[in-house]
Amino acid sequence: MVNDTIVALATGGTGALSVIRISGPSAKAMVQKHVGKNLSHITSHSLHLTLFKSQASEPIDEMLLAYFEEGKSFTGEETVELHCHGSTYIQQSILQALTAAGARMAEPGEFTQRAFANGKMDLSQAEAVADLIASNSRQSHAVAFNQLRGGFSHELQGLREKLIEFASLLELELDFGEEDVAFADRTTLLNLVSEVSGKVTRLMDSFSFGNAMKEGVPVAIVGAPNAGKSSLLNRLLGEDRAIVSEIPGTTRDVIEATIRIDGMVFRLMDTAGIRETSETIESLGIARSQEKIQRSRMVIALSDGSNDQQLQEDRKWVSELRRIHPDKFIVWIANKADLGSAVEGVDLSLSALTGEGIDALKESMSKRIKKDFDVNQETIVSNVRHWEALYQTANSLKRVTEGLEQRVPADLVALDLRAAMRTLGNITGEIEMDTDILGAIFSRFCIGK
Ligand code: GDP
Repeated sequence: MVNDTIVALATGGTGALSVIRISGPSAKAMVQKHVGKNLSHITSHSLHLTLFKSQASEPIDEMLLAYFEEGKSFTGEETVELHCHGSTYIQQSILQALTAAGARMAEPGEFTQRAFANGKMDLSQAEAVADLIASNSRQSHAVAFNQLRGGFSHELQGLREKLIEFASLLELELDFGEEDVAFADRTTLLNLVSEVSGKVTRLMDSFSFGNAMKEGVPVAIVGAPNAGKSSLLNRLLGEDRAIVSEIPGTTRDVIEATIRIDGMVFRLMDTAGIRETSETIESLGIARSQEKIQRSRMVIALSDGSNDQQLQEDRKWVSELRRIHPDKFIVWIANKADLGSAVEGVDLSLSALTGEGIDALKESMSKRIKKDFDVNQETIVSNVRHWEALYQTANSLKRVTEGLEQRVPADLVALDLRAAMRTLGNITGEIEMDTDILGAIFSRFCIGK
């Protein structure tokens, strides 16, 4: 199926240089039609300075050409990369010349899809390519890079081997079961399956961290109108992102922004005042606040520390919030510390206006989130498709355990075992995959990758 030659711009926008990639059996031949240099005897991984001529044989640019022979490139196919100047005119002329020579414009992710199809990487590694490109913090980079280098695949391989061992023990029982010979000791089998289940569960648990690393830890900033939510958001961001006003209830909609603290990304959501109001737009904002709290991992409950009445009301409201959301990290903060009044019972006092206490808030955010997650775990699942596959695997393994405990016939247990191996294999794509699923995975890539 893969026998045509594809081309795409691999770099984004207009930098000083651009890279155009051509991959497929005719890559070199197609480029040859447009360059002055004779390419017939060039060796893999070599660079050549050459002139590129347009379809109309006009000189377009002088550029570096990199050549990778079949089997030695990213895609596994013959590949040529053209490093031209970053003009859109030059880019377009080259793409036009190469498509006229018979190359096809690549679909999003098609280079990586070919790398996968040619066995250059497994599916989870291919997905890590997209994650690595999208990574925007030390942590999300570390997760993607480990996955790209096969850390996750290696871990899964270990689990698969255990399941294969299990299957062979079960085979023994299947072959000799009728003769009533208990070849496979059930305790051994149970131990084996519980070991694998434990690892699968640990991987599943790492997902909330992995996902938070990729998308940012969602933080909701809530509080009464005029408590200083927008000011705090701006202070954390270090720029005037939200509109600050002295009229209560001016932050009508939810403002989202990300900040990086100690290598981790936090997604801050400034929400409208949390209390009841008759005004419709504001009420809409309140509904959104509730929703944001639901979706957040951490809640910054902000009070105006200079407003005694508000503090009293908020004390009740915060303890209510803690009761409803025991699983969330809720910090109660008294703002406007610059106005002097010390506040009892809050977690932190700060001033969004002067910046006093902001560092303490940032420190407690990163400390707490790191404590929440097992950040030292080597392999972290950050992809929802992987999580689903692990979830299905865990369910099948649960049935295997039940089957063993209830002394269900071995051939029935084998069915669940096979299902577990299949879903585990889905992650790395080592078993036959549905082309629709593959299409969906690679369509999320950018073009040229
Ligand atoms: P929001 O409605 O909760 O988003 O509150 P804003 O951020 O719009 O702030 C309301 C008012 O309080 C504005 O006039 C801010 O300048 C003021 N304000 C916010 N933080 C502080 C602070 O730490 N100290 C003082 N003195 N005023 C503040």
